[in-house]
Amino acid sequence: MPRSTDLPHGPVRTCVGCRKRDAQENLLRIVLSEARLQPDPNRRAPGRGAYLHLDWGCWTRAERRRPWTRVLRSTSPVNVHVDTAMLRTYLATRVPRTDTSVAASG
Ligand SMILES: [Zn+2]
Repeated sequence: MPRSTDLPHGPVRTCVGCRKRDAQENLLRIVLSEARLQPDPNRRAPGRGAYLHLDWGCWTRAERRRPWTRVLRSTSPVNVHVDTAMLRTYLATRVPRTDTSVAASG
C-alpha cells in the first residue's frame, strides 16, 4: 500500500517518536505499568496510552526524549526510571533491527 500524505479515516494519533500524526492502526499503543513500558497492541489496557510507530527510528527518538511519565501521566514520580526492556523486545520481534552503526559494505 503506497504511503499517502492524506490522513486516513478513523482515529488519528501522534507518534511520540517522530511527532507525526498517523492512523491509530498504524501505531503501537504503549502503556506504563509499574514503571514498566508495555506494548498494548490490542489497545485494551486501562489508563492513558502513548502511540509509537513500529519503527526503530521513532523508538530511538522517543527513548532519548523519555516522554513516558509526562505523556502517560504516570502516578510514579517523574524522575522514576522507566523500564523499556519489554517494549524493546516487542519491537525486536516485530521490526527487523537495522543497525545504523554498521554501514553496509560494498
Ligand atoms: Zn513515528
